[in-house]
Amino acid sequence: MTSFRFRSSLVAAALALAGLAGAPAAALAQDAVPGVVTTAAAPAAARPHVVVLATGGTIAGAGASAMNSATYTAAKVPVDKLLAGLPELSQVARVSGEQVFQIASESFTNDNLLTLARRVSQLVKQPDVDGIVVTHGTDTLAETAYFLGLTVHTDKPIAVVGSMRPGTALSADGALNLVNAVHVAASKDARGKGVLVTMNDEIQTARDVNKDVNIQTGAFKSQWGPLGMVVEGRNYWFRAPIKRHTQQSEFNIDTIERLPQVDIVYAYGNVQPTAVQALVAGGAKALIHAGTGNGSVADRMVQPLRDAQAQGVMIVRSSRVPYGFVLRNAEQPDDKYDWVAAHDMRPEKARLLTMLALARGASTSELQRMFWEY
Ligand code: ASP
Repeated sequence: MTSFRFRSSLVAAALALAGLAGAPAAALAQDAVPGVVTTAAAPAAARPHVVVLATGGTIAGAGASAMNSATYTAAKVPVDKLLAGLPELSQVARVSGEQVFQIASESFTNDNLLTLARRVSQLVKQPDVDGIVVTHGTDTLAETAYFLGLTVHTDKPIAVVGSMRPGTALSADGALNLVNAVHVAASKDARGKGVLVTMNDEIQTARDVNKDVNIQTGAFKSQWGPLGMVVEGRNYWFRAPIKRHTQQSEFNIDTIERLPQVDIVYAYGNVQPTAVQALVAGGAKALIHAGTGNGSVADRMVQPLRDAQAQGVMIVRSSRVPYGFVLRNAEQPDDKYDWVAAHDMRPEKARLLTMLALARGASTSELQRMFWEY
C-alpha cells in the first residue's frame, strides 16, 4: 500500500504542476457530443448507481515491489479498498461494492459462474441499480463475460473488467480500466448492448473478446474488432453486437439449477484416445474437440469420438486455431456423424454454450442453431 500511496501522490503532484489539482469535474468536461453520455458534471444524487461485484484476479493483486508487473499474488485487495483508492469514481457514479469471491480466475468453477450470474440477475432487477461492473481475473474473464451475456436478462449495462498488472506495479492498468468500466456501466448509451469488456480503453462485446496475450496490457482482442472505445469519460461507439444476448437469450439464469459436465479434448500430433475415454468414464455429457485447422479430427480419433457419442455424449467440433471459424461438413461429415460445429467459438466458450444447451435438453440440431445464433 505504501507504493500505491507513493504513486497517488505522484499523480497529485503532476496534476498540481499542470495547474489542474482540485479543478471541478465540470471544468474538465468537453462540449457535449451527440450520443455520448458524460456523467462527470451531474449532481451526486442524480448520478447513476453502479454496483461493483468483485471476484478477485490481478486487478485485486499485489506484488512485492513496483517492478513486479508479472510476479505477484492475485486476489488480495478487498473491493472496499479498491474503490476507496479511486476517488475519481464518485464523479462518474454512485458506486457500491460487494465481494462475491476473492479468487484467481483460473480457479473459477461452474458453481462460481452460477453464483455470480444469479447475483447479477438479482441486482439488475432492482430499480435503484443502473449498471453492474464485475471485477475479474483476466485468465477466464472472457468466459464469465460470455456466460453472463447468455444468461442474464436485462438491458442494463454489465461491464466486466480486470487488469494485466497489479495495482502495486509501475504503469498499473487496473485503475483506469475500472474507472472506464464504471463509466460504461453508468452510461445510457451502453444499454441493450449486452455484456461488455472494458480493457485497455476498448469496449469489447463479451461474445467475441478473448485473452490473446498473457503479459501485455493490450491483451484482450476480438477477430471482429472492438465495439468502441472509452476515453476520458466518453464512450465512442463504432459497431453493435448482432448475435443474441441478454434480453433476447433463450437461456435464463433464474431457471438454471445446475450445469452438466462438458469437457474439452485438445488435438495435437500423435494424439491418442486416452483423454476422450477418460472424460467419458468421468461423466462428460458432451465433448468439445479442440481440433487442428478447421476443426480437423485425426483419423485415429474419429472412431473413439463416435463410440463416445454412442454412449450419449454430444460431440462438438471447435478449433485450437484462435482466428477464423469452423465450417460444418468441412474436414468431417458432421451431417453423417450428427456432430456439431462450434463456428467461431473458442473451445472454452463452446463449452459454456453447450452446457447451457444441454441444461435445456437441446438436441444436436438445436445446439447447432445456437452456435449460429449466439
Ligand atoms: N491469473 C490471474 C487471474 O486470472 C491473471 C489476471 O487476473 O490477470 O486471476
